[in-house]
Amino acid sequence: MIELRTPAEIERMHEAGRFVASVLGATVAASAVGVNLLELDRLAHDMIRARGAESCYIDYHPSFGGSPFGKVICTSVNDAALHGLPHDYVLRDGDVLSLDFAASVDGWVADSAVTIIVGTPRPEDVSLLEVTSRALDAGIAAAVVGNKIGDISAAIGDVAHSAGLSVNTDFGGHGVGRTMHGDPHIPNDGRAGRGMKLRAGLVFAIEPWFMLGTDRIFTDPDGWTLRSADGSRAAHFEHTVAVTDAGPLVLTAR
Ligand code: MG
Repeated sequence: MIELRTPAEIERMHEAGRFVASVLGATVAASAVGVNLLELDRLAHDMIRARGAESCYIDYHPSFGGSPFGKVICTSVNDAALHGLPHDYVLRDGDVLSLDFAASVDGWVADSAVTIIVGTPRPEDVSLLEVTSRALDAGIAAAVVGNKIGDISAAIGDVAHSAGLSVNTDFGGHGVGRTMHGDPHIPNDGRAGRGMKLRAGLVFAIEPWFMLGTDRIFTDPDGWTLRSADGSRAAHFEHTVAVTDAGPLVLTAR
């Protein structure tokens, strides 16, 4: 079901978005060579508790997950593309780290992700991050009243294709509201002019994720972490965005 939010509701979602942005900012700042992924999860956990917020992840148990997630942030390293389950791993020089975080504040959810390079970057990783981040910007720019969902998908896909990357559409953007995942689904590739028309009050996450060498993934034995089929590295950028009469409003801006 598609739900439209009032300006007052969007402001409350913006509060959740500011909190999610602050947690991502803190975990990015804490990410360095020698830091354990479990320390990043602990930091996010402490911030949730201090804010009186609720994790969207810890009890999350959808059909594709092996068991409840059990952690509060996704940490996807190198060939891990999405849903990286934090585990006992110490970050190394040159690692590509995606942090994906969603939380509920006073009953409203926001969802955001960012990818960084820890220590010394490889040029191809810098380029992957730049392309993925630019695809997010292009998707957001298309989130305007009168456009259609397909315009967002096409804007994202065009950036990937022009960089020579193929796109996996198994996971993509989604409606955000009282819960983390709702309608509409926003694939990271598609045809402009197709799909539902965008109206003021729609709130959704836009989240391009690309891999350097493939569009195929497999699930790690941990039951959660999705890895590239060929071991190539991945990047993921996400914001929760409200469609308003004044244009797209990024609720999770850092
Ligand atoms: Mg997310």
